Amino acid sequence: MSIQKTLSIIKPDAVRKNIIGQILSKFESNGLKVAAMKMKHLTQAEAEGFYAEHKERGFFGDLVRFMISGPVVVLVLAGNDAILKNRELMGATDPKKAEPGTIRREFAESIDENAVHGSDSSQSAEREIAFFFNAAELVN
Ligand code: ATP
Ligand code: MG
Repeated sequence: MSIQKTLSIIKPDAVRKNIIGQILSKFESNGLKVAAMKMKHLTQAEAEGFYAEHKERGFFGDLVRFMISGPVVVLVLAGNDAILKNRELMGATDPKKAEPGTIRREFAESIDENAVHGSDSSQSAEREIAFFFNAAELVN
């Protein structure tokens, strides 16, 4: 086990549902610490740049439209094996396939609006943290 940092986004559907706190509670009660956090309304260019790896996929336009449909919370989570731990807490991309107790199973209904994003590798965590935060904004 090693201490890692990972990027999480509480997506517009979850912010609209007023469940930011319930999602933060899942992270905090499972050993992840908030190391940086801010609210933001992503621009189209930011959403396209953030999800650039998916730009050839059929769902890209819908994904970008959804991600700019309202404010999000972007946060850095730190802890033992934070990248995998966060992905486990999130559950599968499609909430219908997510395990009981996961964030997506409890708080999301569809693959298009699935409550949270999480970095999927150490390389993506590094890129995604730098996409939203500079070093001085990370507190631990
Ligand atoms: P995220 O990157 O948001 O954490 P993920 O890593 O579980 O999600 P990705 O494959 O990276 O899944 O897809 C990014 C986002 O694109 C998903 O969260 C989902 O909203 C959307 N998406 C992925 N696959 C599909 C699909 N087959 N149909 C519709 N939307 C999809
Ligand atoms: Mg992904």
